[in-house]
Amino acid sequence: MTILLASAELEHFAKVGGLADISAALPIGWEKLGHDPIIVLPKYACISESDSITLIDMHIELSICSHTVHVYKSHIQHTMIPVYLLECDELYQRPGIYGNPDGYVDNDLRFYVLCKAAFEIMIKLHISPDVISAHDYHTALLLPLLKLDYAHHPLFARTKGILTIHNAQYQGWYDNYRMHDISNWDFLNDSFESWFLFNNSFNALYAGINFSDAIVAVSPGYAMEVLTEQFGEGLEQVFQQYQYKLHGILNGVNYESWKPEKDEYLNKHFSPNHLEGKYEGKQILIERSFSKNRHNDSLPLFGIVSRFTSQKGLDILNGCIEQFLHEESQRLVVLGSGDKRYQEYFTQLQKRFPTVCSYTQGYDESLAHAILAYSDFFLMPSAFEPCGLTQIYAMNYGTIPIVRKVGGLKDTVLDFDSNPMNGNGLVFTDFSSEELAKCIERAISCHTDKQMMNILIQNAMQSHFPISATAEQYVKLFNSLRDTH
Ligand code: ADP
Repeated sequence: MTILLASAELEHFAKVGGLADISAALPIGWEKLGHDPIIVLPKYACISESDSITLIDMHIELSICSHTVHVYKSHIQHTMIPVYLLECDELYQRPGIYGNPDGYVDNDLRFYVLCKAAFEIMIKLHISPDVISAHDYHTALLLPLLKLDYAHHPLFARTKGILTIHNAQYQGWYDNYRMHDISNWDFLNDSFESWFLFNNSFNALYAGINFSDAIVAVSPGYAMEVLTEQFGEGLEQVFQQYQYKLHGILNGVNYESWKPEKDEYLNKHFSPNHLEGKYEGKQILIERSFSKNRHNDSLPLFGIVSRFTSQKGLDILNGCIEQFLHEESQRLVVLGSGDKRYQEYFTQLQKRFPTVCSYTQGYDESLAHAILAYSDFFLMPSAFEPCGLTQIYAMNYGTIPIVRKVGGLKDTVLDFDSNPMNGNGLVFTDFSSEELAKCIERAISCHTDKQMMNILIQNAMQSHFPISATAEQYVKLFNSLRDTH
C-alpha cells in the first residue's frame, strides 16, 4: 500500500511535541509491514543540510495560490522512507513552526499550501496513494482536497482519507473570506457551508472530520472522551454524529530512538538488569542542574519535560510543589517552554529553591532524554492528554510516571498501589493539587523502600507500546476502508 502522510512536524526535521515523533514513527512501522510511506513537510528555516539531513533538489516547481514551491527530497533518519520538503521562503522561512504565541496570521495559507502541494507532488511523480493520512488541523484540509478538488483525478479516484486527531483543542479557526479566496471552496454558499463552517466560522479540523473516510483518536481513552462535553472541545456532537467512523488507536514508540541500552543522547547506558548507569546518570544530571553543592544525598529526583500549556496540569503542580521543595523532600528538574506565565513561574521557583529546583527554558533534545532517563519519577498531571508519549518513554528508562487518570495516560499507566503485580506508575484521578500532592507523597515514600522501588522500575521497563502494534492497527483500518467503495 502507498500511504501519503503530510504533517506539520517530523522528528529530526522540525519538532515541537509528540506530533513529530509519531509522524516519523508511523511510517517506519508501515514500512516494516511492507508498505510504502511517503511524507510531505514544509522546509522550515530550522531545516538545512546537515550530517543527519541530506537534501536532493527534485527540480520540481509547483505554483500554488500564487506562490512558487520548490521540492527537495530527504529521508527519515536511518531509513529510505522519502520525505518531500517544500521550499517556499515567503511562507516557511521563519522562526519556529507555528509562530508563537498565537500562531502566524497566514497559517491558513501556509498549511493549505502544504496540503495542496502533497497532491501536486504525487501528480508530478505519477504516484497513486492508496491512503492519505492527515494529522491534526494543519493537514486536515487534505481531506476536502481529496473529496472535492482531486476526486476525479485518476491517481486519487480510489484513495481513502484518514484524519488522525492528536489534540482536538487546536482546530484551525480561519477567517471565512481569506479561506474562501485561498481555496475556492464554495462554503459561503448556504448549501455547502455545513461542511466547512462550524458556528459560522471556518474550522479546518471540522472540515477534515466531515470529509474523512475514518477518524483516528490517538488512544482508545481519548476516542471515548472526545464524545463528551468535557473533552470534545465544542466538537463533541460532531464526534457523536461520526462515532461510526471514529477509532481509538494508541500511539506507539519507535524504541530505536528511545533505548536505555544505546540512546545516542546519553552518556550512561543501562538495562533492566544493570541499572548502575541510570544512577550514575542521575548523579551527573544533579551535578549539572543544581547550583549549590549538596549533591550527594538520596533525595528522589522528579522530572518534567513539557510544552507549557494549561493542558499539562502545571496549575495544580503550582498548588502543591512548593511544600515539597521547601521541606527538601525531593529534587525537581524541569525542561520546557511555552506560555510565558509558566516560564516565569519556574524561573521564580528555581530562584527560591536553587538547591532542589532546576529549570531550563527552551527546547533541548539531549536534556529531554537525560531527564526522562535519569529521573526517579516523571510528572505528568495533565488536565487532558490525548495519548502522551513522554510517560511511555519515561517508563522504558525505569522512570516512574506520576499521571492523572485521563486519555492516553489512563491507557498506558497502571497504578502500582492498586496493581502491585504489574503497576507501572502512580495514578490519581481528580484534577486537584491535593490529589497530586498525595501521589507525590506516595512516590517519596516508595523511594525509601528499595525493594518496592525496584519492582516498580522493573514493571515500568517491561511496559512496551511499540510502533509496530500501532502501525498494524492503522493498516487493518486502511484495509477495511479499501474494501468499501
Ligand atoms: P505533546 O505532544 O502534547 O507535547 P507528548 O508527551 O506526546 O506531548 O510528546 C512530547 C514530545 O516532545 C516528547 O518527545 C518530548 O521529549 C518532547 N519535548 C517536549 N518539550 C520538550 C523540550 N522542551 N525539549 C525537548 N523535547 C521536548
